[in-house]
Amino acid sequence: MTSVTTITGQALINGNAVQGNGGSFQAFDPSLRQHIEPSFHMVDLEQINEACALAGAAFDTFRALADAKRADFLETIAAEIMALGDALIERAMAESGLPRVRLEGERGRTCNQLKLFADLLREGSWRDARIDTALPQRTPPRPDLRMRMIPVGPVAVFAASNFPLAFSVAGGDTASALAAGCPVVLKAHSAHPGTSELVARAIVKAVEQCGLPAGVFALLTGTGNGIGQTLVAHPAIQAVGFTGSRSGGTALMAVAAARPQPIPVYAEMSSINPVYLLPQALAARGDDIAQGFAGSLTMGVGQFCTNPGLVLGIDGPAFDRFAAVAAEALADVQGATMLTPGIAGSFQRGVASLAGQSCVTTLINSNDAQVQEAGKGAPALFKTQAAEFLARHALHEEVFGPASMLIACKDVAEMVAVTERLEGQLTATLQLDEGDFGAAEQLLPVLERKVGRILANGFPTGVEVSTAMVHGGPFPATADGRSTSVGTGAINRFLRPVCYQNLAQALLPESLRDGNPSGIWRRVDGALGKA
Ligand code: NAP
Repeated sequence: MTSVTTITGQALINGNAVQGNGGSFQAFDPSLRQHIEPSFHMVDLEQINEACALAGAAFDTFRALADAKRADFLETIAAEIMALGDALIERAMAESGLPRVRLEGERGRTCNQLKLFADLLREGSWRDARIDTALPQRTPPRPDLRMRMIPVGPVAVFAASNFPLAFSVAGGDTASALAAGCPVVLKAHSAHPGTSELVARAIVKAVEQCGLPAGVFALLTGTGNGIGQTLVAHPAIQAVGFTGSRSGGTALMAVAAARPQPIPVYAEMSSINPVYLLPQALAARGDDIAQGFAGSLTMGVGQFCTNPGLVLGIDGPAFDRFAAVAAEALADVQGATMLTPGIAGSFQRGVASLAGQSCVTTLINSNDAQVQEAGKGAPALFKTQAAEFLARHALHEEVFGPASMLIACKDVAEMVAVTERLEGQLTATLQLDEGDFGAAEQLLPVLERKVGRILANGFPTGVEVSTAMVHGGPFPATADGRSTSVGTGAINRFLRPVCYQNLAQALLPESLRDGNPSGIWRRVDGALGKA
């Protein structure tokens, strides 16, 4: 029998390790710059179809499971991930180049995320149960109307490269889909296939332990666009969760929209996360903000979707000083290994393109030939005038890694004008003191239209997994700005409402029956309560 910590390079379909028939590839250690054993076998068309069909067949059983049982399942997954022990951390370190402390933290976040959804299921408000009792005497009479949310069906999840645990196989998308009652067919990211296999085995073990149909979860391995596109096109799949590039996300949106039955795609793609240095805060504590900014920009080699890629300030000595202090702090940061050669290459091309623009001043760029050849990324800080930024869309594009652009604005009105021109963002950060509230009031209405999370006097990296978190935002931050991919709100992406009109009590789901046998929060004739 294969141990759960043995990596075999196989896909997991129907609860079994399956040898892919679509060719093979190897994982890559970006620090040692060498391939790692074993070979991974890519799934073929038939295997993708089988995984999707099994997910479709498992859906009704899985969604009928009592909420408390689904909560137990999520907690069993967390326990099985922890049981993988150090083998998981070591493989993730080798495949991502990320340090142990980061990956141990990410494992904790992954398990806590699963437990948070388990708590949500036990508490029950996610059903959004509503009852409008019949008004037979009214003219016209009102029927008895009862509504609850149900899961949409099997979800295709694309694991992210930059969070090999927390946004990968058992990450936020998978946790929220399984919590909703949706089976998951997971496309592993080719950057960390061994890590993916280990976590997938933990999920499969939890499926077995909880006595669930094997189709509740499948792991598809492979590289190339064919696997993902076939998966999204499969009729059993009813929604998609994705984190990655804008080109990948939009390609999958096109596939989903072209299906005979189009389906929603929740893709998190590209964001440059503007930081606003409002005048009083800049004057009072510009040096501290510059130090904090340098730390946020270079954390994790800048490979966070919330990385601060844009800093807006008012032209003048205080902004010049901020630039000098930030550049000095960044000069102390060594180039470090990026997640994949592809990501490193794309970062270096982005930095070179910014450095090559005549309207852009390079304040620091530590990406010398040695850094580039080693597949690393080093800090780069640029500066331009707001008028130039407004005129050139190329300056607005995400450069994924530790690079940022300072924008010198004439005044707050020009900051507002730049903000109006920005595409949708995950976050915006206001560095402000009390004397800046007037400027903030000018920016806030525009920011509300542009971003998913507005934060004050902090930095955007570090996304709390909680009830009120929004990790979303208008396109291209995400494909659908009405959603979040972090926090308990993420479950809503995979739910839809069903209304039952005049159904007999015996036929109603328990959550909508008279007397509230499930004891959950419900809105009865408009009033929220548990009665
Ligand atoms: P990616 O290239 O978009 O890949 C993500 C996943 O989608 C992978 O499984 C990939 O398959 C698949 N895929 C990509 N393009 C596809 C297509 N056209 N059709 C079907 N499937 C497709 O993202 P990445 O590898 O993580 O990183 C590349 C770039 O994405 C980075 O340089 C960065 O710019 C951006 N990125 C952004 C964020 C963010 O949160 N904003 C996070 C990560 C990456 P394979 O496994 O075969 O590649």
